[in-house]
Amino acid sequence: MLNRRQLIQRLSGFPLLGGLFAATSLPTLTVAGTPKQAPKRDLYKELGIRTFINAAGTLTFMTGSLMHDEVLDTITGTAKDFCMLDEVQDKVGERIAKLVHSEAAVVTSGAFSGMTLGLAGILTGMDQKKVPQLPHLEYTGMKSEVICQKAHDIGYNQALTNTGCKIIQVETAEDVAKAVNERTAVMHFLNIEADKGKIQHEEWVALGKKYGVPTSIDIAADVPPVSNLWRFNDMGFDFVVVSGGKAMRGPQSAGILMGKKDLIAAARLHMAPRGSTIGRGMKVNKEEILGMYVALEKYVNADHDKEWKEWETAIAVVQNAVKPLNGVTTEIHVPPLGNHTPTLRIAWDKEKVKTTDKELKDALRAGSPSIEVGNAGENAINVTVFMLKPGQEKIVATRLKEELSKASA
Ligand SMILES: *Cc1c(COP(=O)(O)O)cnc(C)c1O
Repeated sequence: MLNRRQLIQRLSGFPLLGGLFAATSLPTLTVAGTPKQAPKRDLYKELGIRTFINAAGTLTFMTGSLMHDEVLDTITGTAKDFCMLDEVQDKVGERIAKLVHSEAAVVTSGAFSGMTLGLAGILTGMDQKKVPQLPHLEYTGMKSEVICQKAHDIGYNQALTNTGCKIIQVETAEDVAKAVNERTAVMHFLNIEADKGKIQHEEWVALGKKYGVPTSIDIAADVPPVSNLWRFNDMGFDFVVVSGGKAMRGPQSAGILMGKKDLIAAARLHMAPRGSTIGRGMKVNKEEILGMYVALEKYVNADHDKEWKEWETAIAVVQNAVKPLNGVTTEIHVPPLGNHTPTLRIAWDKEKVKTTDKELKDALRAGSPSIEVGNAGENAINVTVFMLKPGQEKIVATRLKEELSKASA
C-alpha cells in the first residue's frame, strides 16, 4: 500500500516539495488508499436556493440568461493565468469593434455601467484632472445636461445622472433646438421605447450633428435581431450600449460600450484599474471580459434563422397543449422592440377557468420542476422559449395544461 508521501508524489506528478501540498488539497482517501473524488458541491441544494425553468425571458431578477458552454469554458480556461487588465480590454476591444462596426469598444459591467462610463468619457475627455471630480460638475467647466425624449426617460437613465448630469426632457425637434446649450453633454436615445417618442433614430443623430452634440443609444435588450449590434454604429451614434447577459448569453454582469475611438479611450480613464474614478466599482474580471467576447462572437456567427425556427417549434408545443382547453385563448406575437422573440400570450375567461394569473404563477412555481412565466395582465400569462433548455417546452406545456385544466373543473 502506498504511504501518504508516495501517494502525494504520485498524484502531483512532481517530486515532493516539502509542505507545498497541503493536506486539505488532497482528494478524499478511501480505506484502501485509492483516491476518491469528493462529490461536486451543489450550492443551490446546500443553501436551499430554488432553481427553475425560465419560460419568462431575460430578466435581471431571475438572473438574466444562462451562459453558453463556450463562455463557461472561456471563464474557467482563462482563470488560471495572470494578465494585464488593460491589455485584455485593448485586445478584446479591437476584436469586438470589428464585429460591431464601431471604431472602438470596451467590456463594461452591463449596459447600465456602459452608459455611465460613456457619458463620463464625454464629460472629461482625456483630461486626467477632471476624471476624479465626477459626479461634482459645478465650477469644473464640464458639461452637465443630457437631452432625452420624455418617453425615453426611464429608470435606467440613473446611469446617466450618476455622472452628475441632469436630464432635460424634450418631445419635438423644436424642443431639442431650445434645449441645446453650452451645458449639453449628449443626446440620449432609448431604443426599446423608440415607438413612443416623436423623433426616430436617424433624425436624432442628424439633430446631434446639427447642434454639434454627441448622440448615444441604449439597446440593452434589443438583440435579436443581431443586426442591431452594428445598425446604430453605422447610423452614426457616438456610443451604443448593449447587455451581455440577455439574449447574447454572455456573463450576466457584463455588457459592451462601443463607439467613437476618442470617446471609448476617455471612458476607459474612468474604469478599473484606475482608482480615483466614478467607475472603479464597475470592475469586470478578465474571465468575463473574455467570456463576453466569446459570447458576442458566437452570437454574431449563429444561424439566427435556424434558432428562430426552433423557437417557433417549441412555442407551438406549449400553444397546442393549452389551446383546446375551454375558455383559454392563445396568441403568439413578437415584440418589435426589446425581447424580440416569439411570445405566447395565454389568457382565460375567469368564469370558465377559475384561477388568477397570480394563483397560476404560484402553482407553477410550487410544482416540480418549478417554472417561471411572464406577466401579461389579469387572467393571462406570457410564455417565451428562448431561455429554455431543449425539451423543457414539453414540461412547461404539460404543467400549464395540468393547472389550467384543474382550474376549469
Ligand atoms: C437590461 C437593461 C438595462 C441594463 O442592462 P445591464 O446589462 O443589466 O446593465 C438598461 N437599459 C435597458 C433598456 C434594459 O433593458
